[in-house]
Parts: sequence; C-alpha cells; structure tokens
Amino acid sequence: MSQSYFDWTTLHEIAHAIDDKKGFMKARGATAPYGGWAEYGSNVAPVAQAAAAHFNFSTPAALKYIKGLLEGAANSRPSDKPAAPPGRADWNVVRQNVETWVDSIRVGKEPWANLPQDLGGRIYHEAYANSWVSYLKAARSQGIKGYQFRAPGEWFSELYAAYNSGVLKDSHPLVKNFLRDL
Ligand SMILES: [Zn+2]
Repeated sequence: MSQSYFDWTTLHEIAHAIDDKKGFMKARGATAPYGGWAEYGSNVAPVAQAAAAHFNFSTPAALKYIKGLLEGAANSRPSDKPAAPPGRADWNVVRQNVETWVDSIRVGKEPWANLPQDLGGRIYHEAYANSWVSYLKAARSQGIKGYQFRAPGEWFSELYAAYNSGVLKDSHPLVKNFLRDL
C-alpha cells in the first residue's frame, strides 16, 4: 500500500507509534548501525567524565565543575573555579575550552543541527531540558536530517518519514537494514 499521501509530519508521528509499540530503538539504538545511542536521562556524570578525560581537565574539583556547568542554566558558570594542579599552565585555557563545549551542547543551541565537537568519536548533547544523550559521530554519514540526531526516537522517525515519502533511495544501507522490513 502506498503511503505517499501522508505528509512528512504525519509519517514522523506514525513512526513514533511504531517505535514505541515495537520497542525498536530501545532494543537496537545502542548498537552502531542504529546510531550507537546512549541515554543518560538527568545523570550528567557520564557526560562530565567523558569531557574530563577528553579535555584533560580531570581533577575531582574539575569534574565537579563540569557537572555544575552541565546542570546549571545555559551559559552560566559555577562560582568555584577548580585550582590548577602543579605544572598545568594550560589549566585556565582548558577550562574555557570545556565551558565553550558545554555551551555548544545545550538544548537551546539545537546541537543536533549545529554539530558540536565530538569527544573521541561520540557527540554528547542535551536532547531535551535536563536530558542527556550521546551517539556515534560516524552515524551522521548516513544521516538525512539534522533533527534525526536529537534523540533515538527522532533518529528512527525521521528515517521512517524519509523512506516512506520517497526521499530515501532503496540503495541506502538503512533501507536494507530495517526500513523496508518494518
Ligand atoms: Zn518526533
């Protein structure tokens, strides 16, 4: 049956219902062919730990500072700046790099559309207010729309809408992977 008379938004909403009913992304979303998603909810600790390691800003006080940045209002700064360990002349510059990165991944910046810096091949961002995710940067090479990278459910729904409105060619790897078999 052709579904071409449904518009993109309708297809997108149909897809959310399919995803919920099948538990599709819940079962597959963490694996690489489906974006390699991790969902942290309001727990910023894994995001802070990844940043601490990536930026080399990883004293206990620095980790606490990154958590404070992630949990605070957008563009705000915790008042307690972590002290530089011995020999770290770069400390303040690194702290500013962390701050700039956190600013760029907040929900208001639409980081799914305005791609932030990755940390070791993963993109971390605030998908919804106080709800954090990450996914594999490499998944963007098979992307159709920036919005699909907001969250696992959006990834599924945008691809479903793209396929069922004829935007996605049969030769696209994700069509063979799952879209034609839904
Ligand atoms: Zn949606």
